[in-house]
Amino acid sequence: MNLSFDVSIADAYKSNSQKIRVMSESWIANNMYCPCCGNPQINKLENNSPVADMKCGNCGEIFELKAKKGLYKKKINDGAYVTMIGRITSDTNPDLFIMNYNSELCITDLILVPKFFFVPQIIEKRKPLGPTARRAGWTGCNILLSGIPIQGKIDIIKTVMCVLLVML
Ligand SMILES: [Zn+2]
Repeated sequence: MNLSFDVSIADAYKSNSQKIRVMSESWIANNMYCPCCGNPQINKLENNSPVADMKCGNCGEIFELKAKKGLYKKKINDGAYVTMIGRITSDTNPDLFIMNYNSELCITDLILVPKFFFVPQIIEKRKPLGPTARRAGWTGCNILLSGIPIQGKIDIIKTVMCVLLVML
């Protein structure tokens, strides 16, 4: 399995976050099977619909993908709180892929959180933006990784850190 992002597909995009989104979604589309039905491919959704990035063409399962350089600590910053709660309590609620990559644009970790663990209890409401902000009153959310039980975090790729102990 090739763990590197295909950087050639990101040339058409200007912002770094767009490049990462395109490369990480493309990697999933080219390398991941559907964990629900075993279909060998998951497809990118044409429109960037909120809390829905990818879909299995066979069983219709929806996936959200979060990708970050380095490891996530305790929380993942996400978009509007109301939108998130609406999506994860709908009957097309997504599973969540959490991907980490390094400075060489190589994937180091990939975790699947099945949708029955991607629930309102792990969504934290952020403080609304202050009155001077451009989007005053807008309220974002965080996904609380610490709120997901260990059974809900399925390792697909895990980099094993080797520690060499040198006896002096
Ligand atoms: Zn499927």
